[in-house]
Amino acid sequence: MIIVTRIGVTEEEIDHIRERVESLGLRTHLSRGESRTIIGCIGDEERLQNVPLLSIPGVESVHPVMRPYKLAAKEFSARDTRIALGEVELGGSELVVVAGPCSVEGEEMLMQTARSVKASGARALRGGAFKPRTSPYSFRGMEESGLELLAAARVASGLPVVTEVMDTRQVEAVAGHADVLQVGARNMQNYALLTEVGRVHRPVLLKRGLSATIQDLLLAAEYVMKQGNMNVILCERGIRTFETATRNTFDVSAIPVLKSETHLPVLADPSHAGGYRYLVAPLAYAAVAAGADGLLVEVHPTPETALSDGDQSLDFDEFGTLMEALAPFVAAAGRTLAPREQPAET
Ligand code: PEP
Ligand code: MN
Repeated sequence: MIIVTRIGVTEEEIDHIRERVESLGLRTHLSRGESRTIIGCIGDEERLQNVPLLSIPGVESVHPVMRPYKLAAKEFSARDTRIALGEVELGGSELVVVAGPCSVEGEEMLMQTARSVKASGARALRGGAFKPRTSPYSFRGMEESGLELLAAARVASGLPVVTEVMDTRQVEAVAGHADVLQVGARNMQNYALLTEVGRVHRPVLLKRGLSATIQDLLLAAEYVMKQGNMNVILCERGIRTFETATRNTFDVSAIPVLKSETHLPVLADPSHAGGYRYLVAPLAYAAVAAGADGLLVEVHPTPETALSDGDQSLDFDEFGTLMEALAPFVAAAGRTLAPREQPAET
């Protein structure tokens, strides 16, 4: 921690600052400038975390040297974390695509979607059974029966499933049916939920909050990891800005920043970021070029009848086209893509 004193700080004030820091078991180092003095604090920075240093007379600003997150920090792990997802590893050489409807709406649509996205090269099926909706009057998901459909789709297709958990009371049921627990953007700072999903043995897909900084996202991941669950997947899904032409603003720079700050795998969600079908492909290309480990894409058999997020959902053909169009971007990024299944001979 580095403490910068205000101009004209007195010797008594400097002594007091040093005494305060040293009383917590740290050493101090003074560097005197023309008008300011810099006090370097040497030792366990965590001990200073809850001390209101700015309120000590003479202190102008305080600068942490170490990152506030530890388990999620790049330095914590000798190699980048890889998370097994069915037949592949997220965070490895393959760009992993997770696809499926925004919401589970019924058995037929889910089974059809699972078959189709798998044939196009998706490695996991997504679909919400519990839906966080801005309006309480919107469709809020099939809940437990949606979880059962997901579990059935998993058996039928062989694809692992990713689904959202919104509440601590749902964690057990969701973990009992799904392979990956999604914590949505609106719940990224629900610390009780983060703690609870940290206690289960299922990877957690953590979406960036609408107004969360990259550091907020990493600290949310830290909550999960602190409970012992180190398998956290981060997801950039767009943030809220003044721009209204897109549903959110896709923060493409978050991807390389996260890749350099943490060992955790990073997904990008071009569907929620853009909010419109025509933006999904260009944002997906950008994400791959920026170094994302995978993509989360909304796909629906008939987007025009979707009960949620139809405007940003691709139909089966559009998803197949996207997977083909991604190939050169994936190759340029030095990664591989799952092979597409050959259509059956007629
Ligand atoms: C979703 O994935 O359908 C979803 C609700 O995402 P987000 O939490 O990013 O809005
Ligand atoms: Mn959605």
